[in-house]
Amino acid sequence: MHTKLRQCECCDYFTLEGHDNELCSVCFWTQSTIRFAEFDEPSRLNFELTLRDGRCNFLRYGACASELASTMLNFANRLRYQQIARRTPMSLTIT
Ligand SMILES: [Zn+2]
Repeated sequence: MHTKLRQCECCDYFTLEGHDNELCSVCFWTQSTIRFAEFDEPSRLNFELTLRDGRCNFLRYGACASELASTMLNFANRLRYQQIARRTPMSLTIT
């Protein structure tokens, strides 16, 4: 298991080495300047999705966008990464 990796803003898995515009290998969210607290900022690098959208999509489809669901990492491969789930604001509900 990797221990020095950074946490993805979308799926909360530790998948990132810290490069600019890095793609998360679990949820496929491209890291941008948008941080965890900025749930409703549209992300130019992520099909204009917000983190709220991406996190909901990850829970629902296993990827940050429904279009990417077919390429999702299977569960066994996810276990290579650590995840510390962060609680999202109360208003974050799956719609
Ligand atoms: Zn991710």
